Amino acid sequence: MKIDSSEITSLLKAQIKGYEGKLETDDVGTVISVGDGIALCYGLDKAMLGELLLFPHDVYGMVMNLDAEDVGAVLLGDDREIMEGDTVKRTHKVVEVPVGDGLLGRVVNALGQPIDNSNPIPYTKTRPIERIAPGVMTRKSVDTPLETGIKAIDAMIPIGRGQRELIIGDRQTGKTAIALDTIINQKGKNVKCVYVAIGQKNSSVASLVEKLKTLGCMDYCTVVAATASESAPLQYIAPFAGMAMAEEWMEQGQDVLIVFDDLSKHAVAYRTLSLLLKRAPGREAYPGDIFYLHSRLLERACRLAPEYGGGSITALPIIETQAGDISAYIPTNVISITDGQIFLVVDYFNEGQRPAIDSGFSVSRVGGAAQTKAMKSVAKSLKIELASYREMLSFSQFGSDLDPATKKILSHGAVLMETLKQKQYSPYPLWKQVLELYAVKNRYLDDLEKKEVLPFLAGLDEYFAANYKEAIDTLMEKKAFDDALTATFEKGVSEYKNSRKKQ
Ligand code: ATP
Ligand code: MG
Repeated sequence: MKIDSSEITSLLKAQIKGYEGKLETDDVGTVISVGDGIALCYGLDKAMLGELLLFPHDVYGMVMNLDAEDVGAVLLGDDREIMEGDTVKRTHKVVEVPVGDGLLGRVVNALGQPIDNSNPIPYTKTRPIERIAPGVMTRKSVDTPLETGIKAIDAMIPIGRGQRELIIGDRQTGKTAIALDTIINQKGKNVKCVYVAIGQKNSSVASLVEKLKTLGCMDYCTVVAATASESAPLQYIAPFAGMAMAEEWMEQGQDVLIVFDDLSKHAVAYRTLSLLLKRAPGREAYPGDIFYLHSRLLERACRLAPEYGGGSITALPIIETQAGDISAYIPTNVISITDGQIFLVVDYFNEGQRPAIDSGFSVSRVGGAAQTKAMKSVAKSLKIELASYREMLSFSQFGSDLDPATKKILSHGAVLMETLKQKQYSPYPLWKQVLELYAVKNRYLDDLEKKEVLPFLAGLDEYFAANYKEAIDTLMEKKAFDDALTATFEKGVSEYKNSRKKQ
């Protein structure tokens, strides 16, 4: 038998071709270098941006850089066991987290794994952490209030479901307190809450969870924690993971509140990653796409149109400023992405004016449409009255002779400031807020000493709860004043005022 050499070569060639196909060399690569939570890998030519890679010892990584020669991945686990020359495999999947009601009452890490106890999270579905935000046609404008229970906010800076409202201020000015009170106020209101802690102390997150538990609020909350002790990659993906969890509920037609505490630390984590990945530094050494990072996150908070289920995500991102400087890079970015901001000031906080909200710098650009008629009628002149009070106050320091009109503005302003003070963990229902502001607006308190204001108002609330249950119910149901209700309020407040005078 004669064997043709060309036949042998073609056979061999076919064999080799099949061998290559079986190996799928594109799916397996080698680690070139590893350190600071970043691994450079060679040979993963087909890897996708954001894809999960599997390293030895079950450590996962996420592809963030696709270069001509190599692939840069951030490690979502311990990098100390991974060595140069290790093999790394593609998984053909992007980073996903478990979603659904199994997460309620739980504390999870940025990958959705439980960290509160060893019980696994029951879930049937996962969602990719990144997603394109819903388009214009699937959205609806904000029209339902999301009550924070904080007088100053609900009256002057109302928030609607589906809105993004920034809480901004220096360190220790009560930023977390506002977000926490808002979560507490959602009890029984059918709003699911996701609290994302980024770069905070483990102890602060633990005490927050403890507080939510003791107040019985944990059963509608999920806490996603990527604390300061965790690596930058986990801090980077935490808000996206929280948002994916919130989106699942939104798509089921439910209302969700999500708090990002805080995005300044998130920006720092992303800057760390970017510099380690050798991306070009820009202003304040942040990478060029830092704006896009926060805008693609916050754009996902919205109110869906009824035909898409009508759910909503209200986002309360938090930003920490340095010495009240809201014109720094990250603060200006997030201010321009959100629909308004609640600005907290150190001076107020230290003077005891808490919550330390500066009504001049704080705005809500869309929430007005969601404010109830009753609240609108008692709160519409608040901001302007406070502004003129503040203006007069600085003038009155120069001269001692004040005309009666100025004195009136000053005494009324002082009463207003006092009225807006509120303790932590004591959210007010709508009727209490409206009642108190009604009494203040109609000058029932202008003759009181500053220290008498809050006791007077507390007494008024009690008096109404005891004697005017019906009026309260009408207000809560109609959420607006009519002539009859106004007359009842007028009567009730003057009765209470007279009864106090006699004492
Ligand atoms: P950080 O910058 O450390 O995150 P923060 O701005 O989130 O601080 P909080 O931790 O919310 O501030 O509040 C700081 C302190 O002020 C806490 O001890 C809190 O209990 C207290 N505090 C906040 N709000 C009020 C309030 N309305 N009345 C009384 N105390 C308050
Ligand atoms: Mg805080």
